Amino acid sequence: MEANLQPSSLPEEERRRLVMRVIEPRETVEGAGVHVLRSIGGPDLDYLDPFLLLDNFVGGDPAAFEAGFPEHPHKGIETVTYLIDGEMRHRDDQGNEGVVGPGAVQWMTAGRGVVHDEMPRPHDGHIDGLQLWINLPARDKLVPPSYQNIAAEQIPVHESHSGVVTRVIAGRAGAVEGPIRGIAAAPTYLDITVPPHTAWRQPVPAGQAAFAYTLSGRGRFATSDGWREVEARRLVLFADGGVVEGHGDHEPFRLLLIAATPLHEPVARYGPFVMNTRDEILETIRDLQNGTFGR
Ligand code: FE
Repeated sequence: MEANLQPSSLPEEERRRLVMRVIEPRETVEGAGVHVLRSIGGPDLDYLDPFLLLDNFVGGDPAAFEAGFPEHPHKGIETVTYLIDGEMRHRDDQGNEGVVGPGAVQWMTAGRGVVHDEMPRPHDGHIDGLQLWINLPARDKLVPPSYQNIAAEQIPVHESHSGVVTRVIAGRAGAVEGPIRGIAAAPTYLDITVPPHTAWRQPVPAGQAAFAYTLSGRGRFATSDGWREVEARRLVLFADGGVVEGHGDHEPFRLLLIAATPLHEPVARYGPFVMNTRDEILETIRDLQNGTFGR
């Protein structure tokens, strides 16, 4: 018997989450001409309940991101913006404005409707940021919009005995709990840096959808018959279980590990509007035309 086969009698919360698929993001043009690497919300992975979209805007060519995302609406979802490098300036129709700086996160619950613009701004000519869309359950689709803005220095860090450093944005690593609160999908959002040649493991609630997005270096993740090597800028989709296991290679390996509870509800999607029925979408479009959107 192979050493890495896991007995099926193990309870789900102790079973390893094995690699199901590795997705190479596709370059897509969004907003006013921003080049993004899209890994969720495209033809390879249309919907990973409750995740609707994952875009990574990265690079050093100002023409590829400077025009940004001019005024546009959102409804029925949450958008999570996380900056690795550079910043995102934003302004909405309720009078909120600000800057998501390097290492900071903005968790926006759009609920019944937000109209905003988002402008990526480089640091030393370079930008690297991610936007994740999370679906809202039917009961929360019409909540008033709200924000959780977390500055870089407010994000707690967990360091393991083996030197694995985890910035905990949501969920937990060891005894460290992230600052994001009150989100229906009970999310985990971790920024993990694994030292060279180091094994690591991170518990993730069983029953949730879970994926990693690799940022730099390369590493290995457990599969049913060994390990799968994964390079930077890939989405790694995990099967159910309770623990993600990986291994760093010869340089530091940095990745995001993200998980949340699936909704199992019907999805009616039209661009930035995500409701449960086509009628709700049509009503939203009418509201936008009548000037009653978000009221
Ligand atoms: Fe937006």
